[in-house]
Amino acid sequence: MTILYEIYDNLYVNLTNRCPCACTFCLRQDRDEMNHSGSLWLEREPSVEEVKREFDHFDMTKYKEVVFCGFGEPTERLEDLLEIAAFIKERYGLPVRVNTSGLADLIYKKDTAPMFQGLVDTVSISLNTPDKADYHRLTRNRFGEESFDALLLFAERVKQYVPKVVLTTVETTITKEQEKKCQEICDRLGVFYRIRPWESNTLS
Ligand code: SF4
Repeated sequence: MTILYEIYDNLYVNLTNRCPCACTFCLRQDRDEMNHSGSLWLEREPSVEEVKREFDHFDMTKYKEVVFCGFGEPTERLEDLLEIAAFIKERYGLPVRVNTSGLADLIYKKDTAPMFQGLVDTVSISLNTPDKADYHRLTRNRFGEESFDALLLFAERVKQYVPKVVLTTVETTITKEQEKKCQEICDRLGVFYRIRPWESNTLS
């Protein structure tokens, strides 16, 4: 099963297929891999030790960043993710990014932002839309409409603990006017806004 896979200059970690969302646009619906990664559907979730050992099969000097993403929501395994992030930093000295739905606080029913301190360099959160009702309609997440405000609160909080927080939307999926509103949200929160190319519309 594919635990680690390359996309351009980065190495991606596929920890889980669990996700609190069922996004209408999720590419998992009609493909099983990214960039010739091999299937990202996991037979079972790899243990932390298995993931650590998997790095031995890759030339880690080639990569600019290690990204927790995969075919699922990586924060579904937040403690394991952070243990592996610590290992990556100690062993390879590489920056770590987490691509996420930003719903970890709802998954764990607590403020998770402080857990990221010193272990994660970038948190990239899928905003998808500037509108609360649209967000729930698009992501079909299990938490209901409160999820949008929880995402924004998480972004604001985690900014205190990681160097870079980015909210993203995907190009051509919303109007220019909506992109302007997303930029305003990001300005208000003090985080970066990024419009991702369509092809990266895999996961959070
Ligand atoms: S796009 Fe991401 S957040 Fe949405 S269902 Fe797919 S894996 Fe989950």
